[in-house]
Amino acid sequence: MRLPLPTAGAPWADLKARLLGLASGDVRWRDGKAAVYVFNAGPEVEQVQKEAYALFMSENGLGPAAFPSLKRMEEEVVGFGLSLLHAPDDAAGTVTSGGTDSIAMAIKAARDYTRQERKVAGPLNIVLPRSAHPAFDKACAMMEIEVRRTPLAGYLADPAAMGEAADAATAMIVGSAPNFPYGLIDPIAALSDLAIERDLWLHVDACVGGYIAPFVRMNGTDIAPFDFELPGVRSMSADLHKYGYCAKGASTVFFRSAALQRFMVFDFKDWPGGRMVTPTLAGTRPGGAIAAAWAVMNFLGVEGYRAKQALVTEARARIEAGVAALGFSVLGDPQLGIVAFTHADIDAVAVWGKLRERGWFSGVTTEPRSLHLMLSPIHAQVADAYLEDLAWAMGEAAGVAKGEARYS
Ligand SMILES: *Cc1c(COP(=O)(O)O)cnc(C)c1O
Repeated sequence: MRLPLPTAGAPWADLKARLLGLASGDVRWRDGKAAVYVFNAGPEVEQVQKEAYALFMSENGLGPAAFPSLKRMEEEVVGFGLSLLHAPDDAAGTVTSGGTDSIAMAIKAARDYTRQERKVAGPLNIVLPRSAHPAFDKACAMMEIEVRRTPLAGYLADPAAMGEAADAATAMIVGSAPNFPYGLIDPIAALSDLAIERDLWLHVDACVGGYIAPFVRMNGTDIAPFDFELPGVRSMSADLHKYGYCAKGASTVFFRSAALQRFMVFDFKDWPGGRMVTPTLAGTRPGGAIAAAWAVMNFLGVEGYRAKQALVTEARARIEAGVAALGFSVLGDPQLGIVAFTHADIDAVAVWGKLRERGWFSGVTTEPRSLHLMLSPIHAQVADAYLEDLAWAMGEAAGVAKGEARYS
């Protein structure tokens, strides 16, 4: 749809008012009404994100020689992630624009490694559990790599099925920590054993878990090993803009060694513009996202993250107890910030639609039909209000036949 650009510009004050007007129809995430899309660690963190982002908004991560500031910040952010995820001394990482970018670049590295080091010339495949994120499929669609999704066992990756699906042309196997649909950590130790035994590249997708699991563990929850502590893990993705509470446009991708990371970097000079080296999918990289990540991580520190993640755990525990009392069953045994729950008699998707009428915006899981919440610290304040509205929505949805309600 064409729209003529206004001939004369407008004053910023008017435009700001119009922007705020546009936002008035959005989900009220600052009030804790969104359990998807936004990770809300409160107004203090939001202010740090904003001010740090604004300070480096014009700077460009494409030019580390021009902006040693951003290079230094990126090194420190990557260093924090590597240390939280038990990476060996020689490990390396990069800040990317998001989980999709991190995953695509890990696959690119694994592909080039498979071609160059393992000398596989023909078509390649990757093997992933059915619950793995569609970002893998998107990247494989772009790189013409076959995706083999294997059935789950108890909502988790089934290492035996994955072993059967893998062959000499398998460039990567994947486990999630946790998977998005259920919030459950796959049996990464068994996948690591498989990777070592068969010399496969194991990627752990910790996009939504990488910056919460270490702190939940420090807070006392017994979380099974899922990171570089396991010797078969060659690469990991962990999103800063999720439970790292950083501004959007920030994720990290990590490799067990700098040598493996080199397969990710795109280095090109056969054009008139000179040599261009880009580690990620992007060319221009927003300095603001890197600066905001650096600032939030230093603002929170280990203690701050532990406190925020304790609130997430508290919200999840209260919601788990509350939904169980309403007759729902929680899928599996979630330990982090995501929980999905289904009902034997009432259609969860119909309930989801009713909750939207009261301003609650969450996700749904379709196998089985369930409500899906990705919780933030703010939800510790609104868990009871949510449960009250959930009870109301169940009454409203009771007459809807199972499978009838639509979610998109
Ligand atoms: C969010 C998510 C991704 C993709 O990250 P984006 O930042 O949305 O591109 C990948 N994997 C998992 C498990 C995720 O939760």
